[in-house]
Amino acid sequence: MPIRLLSSEVSSQIAAGEVVERPASVVKELTENALDAGAKNISISIEDAGRALIEVADDGCGIAANELELAAARHATSKLIQSEDLFHIQTLGFRGEALASIGSVSQMTITSRVASAKEGARLKVDGGTSGKVEKVGAPVGTVLRVENLFYNVPARLKFLKTDVTERRAIDALVTRYALAYPNVRFKVTDGKQATLQTAGDGDRRFILAALYGVEVAKQMLEVMDAEEGLSLTGFISPTSLTRSNRKEITFFVNGRWVQEFSLTTALLQAYHTLLMVGRYPLTTLFLDIAPEDVDVNVHPTKAEVRFKSQDKIFSFVQRAARKALLAYTPVASVSPQMWGTRTTPSEPREIGIDWSVAHDENIDDRPQTMDHGDAALEENHPSSAVDGQRSFSNAVPLLRLIGQIGSTYIVAEGPDGLYLIDQHAAHERVLFEKLMAQHDKKSIPSQALLTPEVVTLPPQSAKALTSQLPFLNHFGFEVEEFGTNTFQVRAMPALFAGGDPSFALRALVEDFEEDETPLQSEIEAKLAARVCKRLAVKGGQTLTNEEQRALLNDLEACNSPRTCPHGRPTMIHLSVDALERQFGRKGPR
Ligand code: ADP
Ligand code: MG
Repeated sequence: MPIRLLSSEVSSQIAAGEVVERPASVVKELTENALDAGAKNISISIEDAGRALIEVADDGCGIAANELELAAARHATSKLIQSEDLFHIQTLGFRGEALASIGSVSQMTITSRVASAKEGARLKVDGGTSGKVEKVGAPVGTVLRVENLFYNVPARLKFLKTDVTERRAIDALVTRYALAYPNVRFKVTDGKQATLQTAGDGDRRFILAALYGVEVAKQMLEVMDAEEGLSLTGFISPTSLTRSNRKEITFFVNGRWVQEFSLTTALLQAYHTLLMVGRYPLTTLFLDIAPEDVDVNVHPTKAEVRFKSQDKIFSFVQRAARKALLAYTPVASVSPQMWGTRTTPSEPREIGIDWSVAHDENIDDRPQTMDHGDAALEENHPSSAVDGQRSFSNAVPLLRLIGQIGSTYIVAEGPDGLYLIDQHAAHERVLFEKLMAQHDKKSIPSQALLTPEVVTLPPQSAKALTSQLPFLNHFGFEVEEFGTNTFQVRAMPALFAGGDPSFALRALVEDFEEDETPLQSEIEAKLAARVCKRLAVKGGQTLTNEEQRALLNDLEACNSPRTCPHGRPTMIHLSVDALERQFGRKGPR
């Protein structure tokens, strides 16, 4: 086929494909335009999940009659003049593409009036073809009406999901924008029914309820932190409230919804060791940063951004979220119905626990399977986050030792009932926090071995260990290469005195993959967690009363006593109240 220039119709449909993927993308572009126009009220009407109609009416600055045609043209914008402007964008839009794109794949009507004009003007665009600008009576502001989306691109129509899914995408979008702009009144109408209405009074809690449901909203923790030109505000779920995927992790950067991998990772690290494997928090967080420190022009729908100082933002987000989280972490409590449920030895980690999760239908709260492995450590965090604020609510109460059962669990009494503590998980937590605390103070007491131990590792592991040797010294190990794939251990962290050195070395390189984590601090936390896991007392090991008591005391002193470094619970709690119900002293719940 000969090469030829595409007709403007085809090229604009190709361009539209990038910006307008589904009805929710239209809602997004139009809402962003209204916000850029300084609207205080934004009304969105939807029909047939946005296929038949999407209308966004605002009371913003409006578009002058003589600029209407330009507004609908490609690469026409009032938000940017020269390319340098790209690096301090203050508006949500800047590409000048949305209206042109939407107009090329629908029947679009723009009605608008600026405050200085006596009357408004209207322009219709049908599948990319503009009509004439007409004068009409209209209030100040803009009404953007998009009918029969994709009527001229049937292939696109076929890609749309069910009405419910498309509707949900629109709702998710508008509620999040409403949360990001609590001073703007949003109203969504579906057919004749109003489905969302916010007060525009700056109060985010109410909008949160619209987004997550009242029960969930009540439990969300507030984040509010600022530092050197950075600010993070918003809400994150407590560790008891999780979902099985990352879809509910939302970030806004400078008022713009982004799907930014690095931010999600930073957030997950804040939850590190506090969540079960494969569980993810619900969050809506707003990061504000100087416009020149973020490049917003890296993605067609502006869904991704790039930061100038990625590391600084990463650790700020992680610390701010961690702080909010550590201020509140509940103990897992056993629900009376579950108490006494037998678990077969083949699935010893399946415990029925009432995670006190709100019973929101969207929340996946089936019983959770404990994972004993390192997989939970996929998201690590710099050690400094571990000793964030220690708050009363996060602490465990003073516990009175009762004894050990099955050589595996420690039974203790607290002011509010019975605590069952998994000695291995608890000891792992204690060792991990002690080690990281010493590490942060840069003084890990080391203890020389009476006779140095020589350890030979498989080639792959030996290679991994060689690359980690400098880190090991930070941890009070003295290890050196001693021939091919062989190492000599001369000293160990005093904390692990008496532990098997070859066991410790093997733990360090277990499943170690090259470059598995980018930050040194992450590697260190991960290595520390692995060693602690290997050298912690095991289930099935009988402990003396003194050892049991010491473990309880140490656990009480931990920052995050309720989970092991891999995220498994260290304890379950049976409240006096639950006991009374079990014994029929109180009526059932
Ligand atoms: P961009 O937002 O990237 O500038 P758009 O195609 O979305 O590009 O809009 C083009 C221009 O039309 C905007 O720059 C703005 O001047 C004007 N405009 C669009 N929507 C509105 C609105 N709701 N209120 C006022 N002006 C608007
Ligand atoms: Mg725009």
